[in-house]
Amino acid sequence: MDWKGKVAVVTGGASGIGRACAMAFARRGCDVVVADVNAQRMASTVTEIESLGRRALAIRTDVSKDSDVEALAGDAVAEMGHVDLVMNNAGVVLGGPIEKISMSDWEWILGINLFGVIRGCRAFLPHLLERGSGHIVNTASFAGLMAHNPLTIPYDTSKFGVMGLSQGLALSLRPRGIGVSVLCPGYIQTNLGENRRMVGMEPEAGATRVADRVTTVEDLAARVVEAVEGNRFLVLSQVEHLDIVVRRWQDIDTHIDKQIRAARKNAEKNI
Ligand code: NAD
Repeated sequence: MDWKGKVAVVTGGASGIGRACAMAFARRGCDVVVADVNAQRMASTVTEIESLGRRALAIRTDVSKDSDVEALAGDAVAEMGHVDLVMNNAGVVLGGPIEKISMSDWEWILGINLFGVIRGCRAFLPHLLERGSGHIVNTASFAGLMAHNPLTIPYDTSKFGVMGLSQGLALSLRPRGIGVSVLCPGYIQTNLGENRRMVGMEPEAGATRVADRVTTVEDLAARVVEAVEGNRFLVLSQVEHLDIVVRRWQDIDTHIDKQIRAARKNAEKNI
């Protein structure tokens, strides 16, 4: 994809991974619509994009609301003329012992992490299909490739959903000129902890992470740019993650037992 004259929409674009991607797209010559619930961070991201000489627009959008996401698509096309890249990236974390997770907890996380992505795809698809071009980037997680913590089942479920959705979309949309990529980072330092909900436990307790010390949000954004340019599906923060997933599936029962032992050790450490 040649970025000049293109327009990207990034949900969760005011912070962390979304913000870094918005900046990376702008550096390539793309105008950007930042869609988020955090007005202050949206404004500062827009200012930074504008300082690169690109056009930027902040549209307050709660991706858990149909009407907000439909309005985002309508307003982005009306204001910018067209949209070429949609990055469905807004996300939150919710965890806790599975028996303590209420239906409203499930609805909260799936409403943002999974239905938010579905809403974004649905809202922009008619426009992309009409043009017969463009690219969708959906943010899943390493946790969308492999569940590795018994205390983050709702999060993992939401991200596996994004993975299934994205693979299906690639099958459907690639032949119609629209690229699809799915982003699966390991743990990266962002503001994700701010909106985290841990049910029935201390916020930090039991958190195991697939530590990703080498990757920054800027590194990750560069990988997203490459994937869009090369029309590649899977974007990992570390190539080793693929080996981990393959090895796990080759002997899933041993791996589940191993992770139960690791989770137990981790819980003991936190007592
Ligand atoms: P972040 O908190 O820095 O950024 C997320 C942004 O989403 C924030 O600006 C927040 O205001 C926004 N947001 C939250 N709820 C929203 C809603 N309902 N509607 C619109 N915007 C909303 O966190 P991040 O780490 O940059 O997260 C971005 C994505 O990356 C998420 O989907 C997250 O699950 C995923 N991810 C993050 C990591 C990590 O370690 N940071 C790892 C794997 C995947």
